[in-house]
Amino acid sequence: MKPHEHVASFGTVDGELRLGGMPVSRVAARVGTTPFFAYDRGLLDARVDLLRRLLPARVELSYAMKANPMPAIVQHLAGRVDRIDVASAGEMQHALDSTIRPDRVSFAGPGKTPAEIRQAVAAGIIVEVESPTELRRVVAAGEELGLQPQIAVRVNPDFAVKGSGMRMGGGPQQFGIDAEQVPAALMEFAGSVDVIGFHVFAGSQNLTAEIIAEAQRRTVDLVTELAAHLPGPLRYLNLGGGFGIPYTEKDQPLDLETVAANLHDLVDGPIAERFPEASPVIELGRFLVGECGVYVTRVVDRKVSRGKTFLVVDGGMHHQLAASGNFGQAIRRNYPVAVGNRAALVGADAVTVVGCLCTPLDLLGDDIELPDADIDDLIVIFQQGAYGLTASPTAFLGHPAPAEVLV
Ligand SMILES: *Cc1c(COP(=O)(O)O)cnc(C)c1O
Repeated sequence: MKPHEHVASFGTVDGELRLGGMPVSRVAARVGTTPFFAYDRGLLDARVDLLRRLLPARVELSYAMKANPMPAIVQHLAGRVDRIDVASAGEMQHALDSTIRPDRVSFAGPGKTPAEIRQAVAAGIIVEVESPTELRRVVAAGEELGLQPQIAVRVNPDFAVKGSGMRMGGGPQQFGIDAEQVPAALMEFAGSVDVIGFHVFAGSQNLTAEIIAEAQRRTVDLVTELAAHLPGPLRYLNLGGGFGIPYTEKDQPLDLETVAANLHDLVDGPIAERFPEASPVIELGRFLVGECGVYVTRVVDRKVSRGKTFLVVDGGMHHQLAASGNFGQAIRRNYPVAVGNRAALVGADAVTVVGCLCTPLDLLGDDIELPDADIDDLIVIFQQGAYGLTASPTAFLGHPAPAEVLV
């Protein structure tokens, strides 16, 4: 997707990028400082609405909070999704502080400590166990507290999903209990725990609908085998997610209709036949929030070095690691960038946008076309609603933390 398409999804007003109905320069004036992250609640709502319209009504939406744990976003989504997935005690606290019911919160992720598990059991949260050790700890916490913990088993599937930005299932993994070990693990604790179902999460950032659809079909087949080892009916069927978003020009948006059509087939077919009491869950992070947010920085210097024009901005990789290419370890491609206060103009000038850190890795846009921009103009980077601030090395070089606003 090209930068002008991202501008179009936010819209423009008075020739500027529109954020929450206001021109970006007005948002910047209200925030009072740059850089900042802004998340557009209208776009968030539109994203939830799109999913609700296309996915089967029986499918429940879970928000994977690690994508963006800003309390205002969590609270906003708590009233619009069916579930929230957390991955630490800190995230669990944010979820419990929102309006979502505790039994609608799931806690996944490897390395849960006994203390975290006890907190989750005490709060009545679904613990998604990632290993036999965790299963044992949940049982022990339940006995100690005199409570019946709600457990789901995260399963490392015996298949792998190709084409994911990050593979999190198949082969040896720190995530989940290997499918072939699940029956023995369930047998060991038969009678003493309430296992409500399974969670299979095969991978993240997938832009190929057919691969996601195949993973979902194989997940239903795998869960059919595993559910035979449960004493009661399956009540929870977390099919994972992995819906990707287009970060660079060469990425095409995910064909959600194809994914949705497959889910309708599964829900009306095998899920209706085999698991009439189960809630099928799709768990999404970046697909819900990623495209709703921008990172706004201000140009502090413009300089020409041996024929190359640099715009130096007051933000950088310390707030937006991914756009800079993750410390040089990944192949770096430009994220979509615009001059927010000249958003209606088409690019003409080839410039390189760099951050204010003292490292050549602090590169936000390499040799990109922007309308003539100068000191004090607002440079906007798109696709920043997920894995931005909390996934960046904010302490690096000691600059102040950026503001975050939900507009
Ligand atoms: C990180 C994570 C997600 C969210 O991934 P996205 O790519 O942001 O959708 C969902 N489920 C689990 C278990 C995760 O660890």
